Amino acid sequence: MAALARSVLVTGSNRGIGLELVRQLAASPRPPQHIFATCRDPEGPRGKALQELAAQHSSIKLVQLDTVNLPSIQGAVWAVKSHLKDQGLNLLINNAGISSHATLRSLDSQEMLDVFATNVVGPLLVVKEFLPLLEQAAKSAGKEGLSCRRAAVINISTKLGSIGLCLGLPEAPMYPYRASKAAQNMVTRCLAAELQDKGILCVAIHPGWVKTDMGTEKAPLTVEHSVRGILTVLASLSQATSGAFLDWEGNSLPW
Ligand code: NDP
Repeated sequence: MAALARSVLVTGSNRGIGLELVRQLAASPRPPQHIFATCRDPEGPRGKALQELAAQHSSIKLVQLDTVNLPSIQGAVWAVKSHLKDQGLNLLINNAGISSHATLRSLDSQEMLDVFATNVVGPLLVVKEFLPLLEQAAKSAGKEGLSCRRAAVINISTKLGSIGLCLGLPEAPMYPYRASKAAQNMVTRCLAAELQDKGILCVAIHPGWVKTDMGTEKAPLTVEHSVRGILTVLASLSQATSGAFLDWEGNSLPW
């Protein structure tokens, strides 16, 4: 089987789902040539697991990227470009995110704004700044259809951001988190519509409820299981699924 993509970038890859994405990509039988594992502090103690992983796989390049800091995003673009030379970036996975359990009673405007900054504005700016590299990858693939192998943006979303699934009393109010992920879903749809003529596929993926710092130990899915599913779904994406909202098993979710 061919590699999922020649080059992949993952945000928030020092722990949780992001770290496991990098681990499974690097360990796959046909790994990407370049895996840009990005996080806020790759050299610091919070990047330790990633540093250890990178020491075992020459395909992994650690890159500093704070998704709410424009100079940091631009610095990451330069770092990635210098590795890729003229080949462009095939696959961008916007995974970094923060949660908030604020209820109607407890929320304040700053918390709402902080969650929107990380879950909506950050991923959109990351796409904006990396767009020239994605376009370069899409062009060099010629007239091939849409796929992760050619050029793609994957936004890690959540079922909790689905407006269609939130008709009854929401089991978890989480106003900032749910509203931010619903907004991120709209961003995915807009990107899919705008970028498909440029040869770039855009999809939102719900990873399931996963045992991570965010998902907690109560979650039913292990991070290994979720990521195995996500990578299988990514390999299957095409023109037909561009602009879709899918879960880690490939099931379609209502927006
Ligand atoms: P974790 O809390 O375990 O990890 C979050 C990651 O995002 C960390 O690497 C964190 O870095 C990073 N991050 C947060 N803010 C920034 C920023 N400004 N710049 C760069 N990195 C940042 O979460 P998960 O791994 O569980 O979640 C990953 C994604 O999956 C999120 O988008 C989440 O919403 C989504 N998701 C998760 C579910 C679950 O059950 N776990 C369910 C549905 C969706 P740092 O260590 O520096 O804080």
